[in-house]
Amino acid sequence: MNGDVRQERSRVVVIGGGVSGLIAARDLARAGVPVEVLEREPDLGGRIAQARIAGLTIDVGAEAFATRGGTVEELLREIGLASEITTPAALGSWVIADDRAMPLPAAGAGGIPSDPLSRTSSTALGVLGALRAAVEPLLPARVGATSETLADLVRARLGARVLDRLVRPVSLGVYSTAPERMPIDAIPGLGAAFRRRGSLVSAARDLRDSRTAAGGAVAGLQGGMGSLVQRLRAELDRLGAQIRTGVEVGALERDGDAWSVRDRTGSEISRGGAVVLAVDERTASRLVEPSTAPADAPDGESDRVEVIALVLDDGRLTRAPRGTGALVAQERDAHRGSTHSTTADDPIRAKALTHASAKWPVLARRAGQDRQVIRLSYGRAGSAPETEALDDAAAMHQALADASRIMGITLHAASVRGMARKVWGVSGPIVAGEGPHVSAPPGVVLAGDWVSGTGLASVIPGARDAARLALRAVSGSNPASTGPVTTGGSS
Ligand SMILES: Cc1cc2nc3c(=O)[nH]c(=O)nc-3n(C[C@H](O)[C@H](O)[C@H](O)COP(=O)(O)OP(=O)(O)OC[C@H]3O[C@@H](n4cnc5c(N)ncnc54)[C@H](O)[C@@H]3O)c2cc1C
Repeated sequence: MNGDVRQERSRVVVIGGGVSGLIAARDLARAGVPVEVLEREPDLGGRIAQARIAGLTIDVGAEAFATRGGTVEELLREIGLASEITTPAALGSWVIADDRAMPLPAAGAGGIPSDPLSRTSSTALGVLGALRAAVEPLLPARVGATSETLADLVRARLGARVLDRLVRPVSLGVYSTAPERMPIDAIPGLGAAFRRRGSLVSAARDLRDSRTAAGGAVAGLQGGMGSLVQRLRAELDRLGAQIRTGVEVGALERDGDAWSVRDRTGSEISRGGAVVLAVDERTASRLVEPSTAPADAPDGESDRVEVIALVLDDGRLTRAPRGTGALVAQERDAHRGSTHSTTADDPIRAKALTHASAKWPVLARRAGQDRQVIRLSYGRAGSAPETEALDDAAAMHQALADASRIMGITLHAASVRGMARKVWGVSGPIVAGEGPHVSAPPGVVLAGDWVSGTGLASVIPGARDAARLALRAVSGSNPASTGPVTTGGSS
């Protein structure tokens, strides 16, 4: 076999420079595989991104990782970031339901209370709602067992109050999806625990020790999650991987034993024996099944969220009136299409608020006394964010109005020191029975949260699995490869 051909077959092209692509590329490069990463945007990181606001570096995408399973920590240790891990303040999260703010009960998963009769659960659910939920472990396992969605299952077993006041805000705030569109298995571990225990409350107890503050089973990095991307990039440079940004892949074609990677005009931009497709589901579908890929969603129906981050000087917020932040329970379908002037009677349009400087003591130290950082998010699967069409002044006005209602303190534009806005596509792996199902041809390996599940604790092990599969696909042609992708050590 000619050397060039062998070299070409031994190479892996990673399409997508988000965390999935970067981790897959790193594992492959460490195993001695020649790798090239192609990223459409000017910056690597995908949905991990940072903005500079009023002199502070702030995550405007992912800001934390779930500690479950220890897989993120293991990777951070390997790449020398273990000492940067930081934990959030144990303040707990809040929920805004029926225009009232209440602490979110410490929960096992997805807002399901692990102790329905605890003080926080009874405050959120009312006495009747709490009692209704408390009898759930006594119900036969068959109650709700045929439910196809999280909403049906929770309503059948725990009642409408748990669904509307706890599960809905968590679904919308964390997964950007209404519980009516989520299968129970979208919440990591919940389906399996429910099938094992025959009770949602018992499953929630299994999944998290109820003494843990709600929303507390996460950790972050001192410099924000953006430092993970910077470190991965440095690792890839050190390992000799090629990285090209601002390159949009438009087509994939099988050419003999290799994959030809083409841009939007059809020109070849790269070749390899295998491809890791670490892009969103819609793009993956278009690249591997161009004839059956769904058309883009019409405007207004696409799945996007907008994050608005504000830095403000307002000492009243140092009391952290809503702990680390709050999730908003209300459904906003009824209000879509109304004008964007905000009055006291308007619904809160944000689906969640993170009080970042209360959540992360390391950020509070950096910000200094009285300077506060809050992040609001808008939109969810199936609808455009309410703020997307607004100019910056109107978006800031909306964000301040929502933050004031959520925090219970009237916030003024005069205290705002800076704002950043970022619109994200949300992938819909968790939408029950919807979305294209992509089957990868031989030599193409899929990665991303739509493959492995939402959140870095699922995405990172998924990306490492993808690297193993890609390695297997090229291993016959790769004399330099050291065999299976290994973990541990950074050399
Ligand atoms: C606002 C927000 C907050 C979040 N917060 C958290 C959190 O706190 N904790 C958590 O665990 N998770 C969080 N997540 C989810 C987490 O960010 C994602 O699960 C994870 O970053 C997905 O990584 P990925 O590499 O699979 O996908 P992405 O990050 O989306 O990367 C895909 C990459 O592919 C590129 N691409 C797409 N098409 C092409 C093409 N044709 N050619 C070349 N490149 C292409 C894109 O530009 C992108 O960089 C959050 C997500 C959002 C949007």
